[in-house]
Amino acid sequence: MRNPLRTVLLIFIVTVSQIVAEAQEEAELLKHFHSITAEEVFGYAQTLSEPQFDGRLAGSPGYTRSAEWLASHLREWNIKPGYGESYFKHFPQDYTVVKSKGSLSAKLYDKKGNHIDKNYTFPEHYFPGSNSANGTIEGELVYVGYGITASEHDYDDYKAIDVQDKIVLIEPGHPKPEGAKEWNDWARYAGSSEKMTNALNHGAKGVLYISKLASPGIKYNEGLIYCHIDRNVVKEFFFARNLDYSAVADELKKKNKSQSLSLKHKISITAETEYHPKGSYANVIGVIEGSDPELKNEVIMVGAHLDGQGNLGELFPGALDNASGVADIMAAARALSMLPAPKRTIAFFFIGAEEKGLLGAREYAKDPLFPKEKTICYINLDMVGNGTGLYFGGGPSFPDIFRHFEESNASYIHRPLKTRYLNRSYKGRPRTDGMALSQEGFRALSVHCTDRVKKLYYHHPADTPDTLVPEIMEDVSKWLYLGLYSLANAETIDLNEVIEEK
Ligand SMILES: [Zn+2]
Repeated sequence: MRNPLRTVLLIFIVTVSQIVAEAQEEAELLKHFHSITAEEVFGYAQTLSEPQFDGRLAGSPGYTRSAEWLASHLREWNIKPGYGESYFKHFPQDYTVVKSKGSLSAKLYDKKGNHIDKNYTFPEHYFPGSNSANGTIEGELVYVGYGITASEHDYDDYKAIDVQDKIVLIEPGHPKPEGAKEWNDWARYAGSSEKMTNALNHGAKGVLYISKLASPGIKYNEGLIYCHIDRNVVKEFFFARNLDYSAVADELKKKNKSQSLSLKHKISITAETEYHPKGSYANVIGVIEGSDPELKNEVIMVGAHLDGQGNLGELFPGALDNASGVADIMAAARALSMLPAPKRTIAFFFIGAEEKGLLGAREYAKDPLFPKEKTICYINLDMVGNGTGLYFGGGPSFPDIFRHFEESNASYIHRPLKTRYLNRSYKGRPRTDGMALSQEGFRALSVHCTDRVKKLYYHHPADTPDTLVPEIMEDVSKWLYLGLYSLANAETIDLNEVIEEK
């Protein structure tokens, strides 16, 4: 018979050493947790926003420099390259160098034929086109509403108007149908690239696009010069002809009926650009390999797009969009690399060409580094650096993933945390890398901030580090660090999706 006292003693020793080991583990976890500072995270975003990277336009040398800078950090932290010896997977990508802000001027004619001269300025009145052809054009201005020709919907903004050698004024968006399915039917006409091509096909030589922001996703068209214009200038164009722009735009929206008309003004656009058909960009992946012989094949991915809007004669630093997301992940990755390897693999995915139409994410989905069925989830960060609260997109859909982030926040971060089910009923085209991957069958979740405290400048040269909140970036980074490590070490993860009851 065994000595019962010995058994009790043995259990006691085992329990004590377990408690000691757990305490040591927590001390180790917290040591590196505290090594993440606002200064570190903000510093990465600041560097990425510098002129040396020229706005990180996918395809351009500035983007490549930013990818190399990022990879050098991953290497320094002993985070493994995703692609053999390399962190990069390259893809061809054309791009346009915009050499100056160009110019936009007008002769505004009234009904009697008298005119006044107008010179417009960047960034108040117009933004140069990211992929405009080079040169100067002059032509009569014609308003063509959405600029859509869709025969199967019996809709054509060009039907009753001649735009040959003219400059067309185009609205964003498309006629508004009722259901989500019809939205998707219209989506292929609604893109600005499709509208530019349609204008060119109708003989227009230039476009004024009514959405004043940088838009590198518009495809280059030889012979088409364009820029983006402020709505207040458009109002002026109509007012000069005794027309009410808001009334015309309202009519277009409410009746889903073409409102095209010639405005008679003479517009002059100059674009100073240089088209480069043979650029390239890379998706960047770094990996912390799991330690468990079985579970290491399961991968948790966290990612952010690295590319930005480039330089349109003035730098677009892209600090919030998306140096912030990259920076949040970098600091978390550095701290995670100091810990003993978790059971599962963690991959850091820095995506290229998001601004060109989610191209990097789509390329990844075509040829994933890790099999889809072994990818636990992909967590996307886009514009995560302004606010006071935390948000986890898709939490209730995957409660067994979300709980790791919920518990980490409750124990160590203490920020207000919001969450929502995954949105499965898309309207139109996907707008984020996460949505692009979700459409391809990945479990794509997202991290955001809530309760914005600084002014947002979207695709604007004022998207500088001044608009970032370093303290929330520190906490997002710490939250990722804890949540990812906890998830990667879970004994089991229930991946059944909980569908929202409506
Ligand atoms: Zn973005």
